Amino acid sequence: MEVTHYWKGFGRTDIGHVRASNQDALSLDDTLGLWIVADGMGGHAGGDVASQLAVKAIHEYIAKNKRHKTHLEAEDLADLFQAAVNHANITIRHQGKNKPELKGMGTTVVFVFMPDSNATNAFIIHVGDSRAYLIRDQQISALTRDHTLLEERIQVGLLPRTAPTNHPLGHVLTRGVGVKSTVEADISKIELQATDEILLCSDGLNKMLQDDQILAILEENQTKPGQEKCQALIDEANRLGGKDNTTTLLIQAQEVSSKPL
Ligand code: CA
Repeated sequence: MEVTHYWKGFGRTDIGHVRASNQDALSLDDTLGLWIVADGMGGHAGGDVASQLAVKAIHEYIAKNKRHKTHLEAEDLADLFQAAVNHANITIRHQGKNKPELKGMGTTVVFVFMPDSNATNAFIIHVGDSRAYLIRDQQISALTRDHTLLEERIQVGLLPRTAPTNHPLGHVLTRGVGVKSTVEADISKIELQATDEILLCSDGLNKMLQDDQILAILEENQTKPGQEKCQALIDEANRLGGKDNTTTLLIQAQEVSSKPL
């Protein structure tokens, strides 16, 4: 009996306790190996439209264009991911031009792509302050760096890494999808272990919880199904005030038993 695994995503989204609408969006496609979270920009008209458009455009683009290629090198994949983000950017700007009430809308996006169902590599692509984390060996580490003025200042040494996450510059995005005529996505690759989990989230989670609190909740719910872990994170963010919409998407390896041929 050969035991193998496949990667499966679980996701939840919640309006929170303060906002009038949920401007987050998410997409899960275990077959394609693509999981996406987007956060429509608060304060901009049509944030909920922008996040939905981005998720749909990226999913459609990758599904369509991956099919034409039998073997993709990492470089081809990087081009594919950037092209998918460009497609989302153009789609959002086009809609914004046609409907005055949606003018100026934009969104963050973070997504994970795994080329094979029992993948050993994962690619992480993002624009904005929606995050990806790796949970490995009871530790949590960030796979993305926010595109915010706060993170920029930290990176050049003008502010300490320990600066509070609710610092005013933490809310000022330096990149967004749909905001300008072009947008550059950050792309990175990690080697996967079967016991890894990847967490994608909108900043609603990070406004209420520090990284070590996120890890503690995942650990407390270790034996529960992925869906319940995602909900436990949202429940805690809401218990602490739920100041923003919160989306959590957890990707885990599921064991499958199969008979040898
Ligand atoms: Ca948000």
